[in-house]
This record gives sequence, structure tokens and C-alpha cells, in this order.
Amino acid sequence: MFIGRNIMASAIGFIGLGNMGGPMAANLIKAGHTVTGFDLSEEALKALEEAGGKRAASVAELAAGSDVIVTMLPAGAHVRKIYEGEGGVLDNAKPGSLLIDSSTIDVDSARAVASAAADKGMPMVDAPVSGGVGGAAAGTLTFMVGGSSEAFDAAKPYLDIMGKTIVHTGDAGTGQAAKICNNMILGISMIGVSEAFVLAERLGLDAQKLFDISSTASGQCWALTSYCPVPGPLPASPANRDYQPGFAAEMMLKDLKLAQDAAHSSGAATPLGAQAAALYSMFVNSGGEGVDFSGIVKYLRGTS
Ligand code: NAD
Repeated sequence: MFIGRNIMASAIGFIGLGNMGGPMAANLIKAGHTVTGFDLSEEALKALEEAGGKRAASVAELAAGSDVIVTMLPAGAHVRKIYEGEGGVLDNAKPGSLLIDSSTIDVDSARAVASAAADKGMPMVDAPVSGGVGGAAAGTLTFMVGGSSEAFDAAKPYLDIMGKTIVHTGDAGTGQAAKICNNMILGISMIGVSEAFVLAERLGLDAQKLFDISSTASGQCWALTSYCPVPGPLPASPANRDYQPGFAAEMMLKDLKLAQDAAHSSGAATPLGAQAAALYSMFVNSGGEGVDFSGIVKYLRGTS
């Protein structure tokens, strides 16, 4: 049955139905696909059933009955176990099944799983996202997609349902590379902007004046002009609601650690990335867990 101009209704298996995976699976159901889910959480499975999906009793059962398998799991170890472990996707999926991993994981794991999938004749893309829980619910995520052109073309109709911007970044692992490089820029720039506001306070320079100048001068960047870490200049930024996330500091820390893993294994020099990971680690461990990542300004102020 066709559900769009060029797309047939598919049997999709979705593993990892948490804050992101749950609404992403719901959008695939709304678009007309049959979605069978697996998760360790009963609550997540019930939510899938309420959205019109079915539950599988195991990863093996899900894999055997699906044409397309999407995973949205916490970290690389979970992804490797689900695909490569005993009773996992690669041992049970039909040859030619399309595999889409949207978890944010380390580049090495993403490449290892894609290579094992290729050995089994299954096209795979790493397709991490940005856009958060709101983007997952609204179907407006950005997908950064690593894999062959054929795998990208096969995955795109499904990603189009869950997202708005779908970018083919290159071969396997480059989706994860794009995600962690971008977020390393963001972490470093948020610290830089926050340090400037803390210094301005010490020097008696009004925060609004600094914003007015730097947002149109050479210091301008997204962390300043779209996500200002002090209250006032941008009413919509988390600073104006006591730094409720938004994008939680521990998620930023996860991505900065992944960037450091990748820097070490590839031999790239990222001294500021390392410093940003250390600062976010100290912030999270000193009460920053659950706080928006722009709340690092409070940590810097406190240690001044
Ligand atoms: P989450 O913890 O809400 O969901 C993860 C789900 O995976 C849970 O429901 C958990 O029960 C399930 N799970 C864990 N191990 C499993 C296993 N072995 N078998 C089956 N299910 C298992 O996390 P989330 O916020 O949905 O994030 C998922 C991924 O998306 C992460 O890699 C995260 O970094 C990334 N991400 C999250 C956001 C965000 O704003 N939450 C934004 C961008 C990217």
C-alpha cells in the first residue's frame, strides 16, 4: 500500500522508545507505517501501544518481522549489544533490511556496527539528531546521516517523516562526527560567552550593553545571539527561566566526552574541547545535573 507519492507502508521495528524514540515512532505510525517496538521500559511500550504501535517480545522477534529497523538508544555499548549481541538485530533481521541508528554514540562504535551490518548484506546509516524532545514530537529534527548513497536514499523517506532537515554527511560514522564536532563548537563557545559576561560583571559593564555590542560585532555567535546565558537580552533563552533545560548540561557533557574519545582515537588536537569537557564535568558534578547547559555561567561566576 502506498502512503505517499513514492513510499510504501513498511513494517518498521523501533528499539529504544524513550524521550526521543517514543515521539519519533509515533510520527512513523501517524504517517501510515506499521511500527513494532521494543524497550526495557513497560511505560515506554504502553505509550507506543497508545500511539497505535505493537510491542515485540524480543529484539529477535522484532528484527525478524521488520523491513526497516530504527534504534534510539542511550550510548554506544547499548547499540553494539542490540545489533551485534546474541539474539540481536544482525543475527535475526532479514537480508537487505534497512538499519537506521539515530542514537548519539561514539564514531568507532558506529563504524564497527555499520561494517558488521555490511557483512550481513544490510544497508545501515548512523543518523544522530539535533532538535531535542520538542523536535522529535513535532517531526522537525535535523538528521546528520553517515553511510553509502544507496543507504542514505533508502533511509531518507523515513527520516523525512521524523525530521525537517536531512543531511548526507558522507560514509559511515560521519553523521556522528558532524554531531560531536558541532556540539564541541557549541560547548566551547557557550563557555567563552559565559566567561565574557562574568568578566563584564566584575568590570562594571552592563550585560545588556555587552550583548548589544558583541551580538553585532566580531564576538557574535549562536551561544550569544540565540541562547544568551544571562537573563534579559533574549527573553526566550533558558537563563530567563532559572536555566531549566532546554539542552541539559549532562547531555552537553556526554557529547563533549564523545568528541574527546574521537579526538584521542583519531589523533586530533582539541585542547579547548578537552577543557570544555573538564569544565562541564565539574559543573554537572557540583549540582549542574538537570540544569540547562547555559547555566555554566553560574558555575563560572561561583568559581570567580
Ligand atoms: P531515554 O533514556 O529517554 O531513552 C532511551 C530508551 O532506551 C529508554 O526508554 C530505555 O529503556 C531504552 N533502552 C535502553 N537500553 C535498552 C535495551 N538494551 N533494549 C531496549 N531498550 C533499551 O533517552 P533519549 O533522551 O530518548 O535519548 C536517546 C538518544 O538520543 C541518546 O543517544 C541521546 O544522546 C540522543 N539525543 C537526545 C536528545 C534529547 O534532547 N533527549 C537530543 C538529541 C539526541
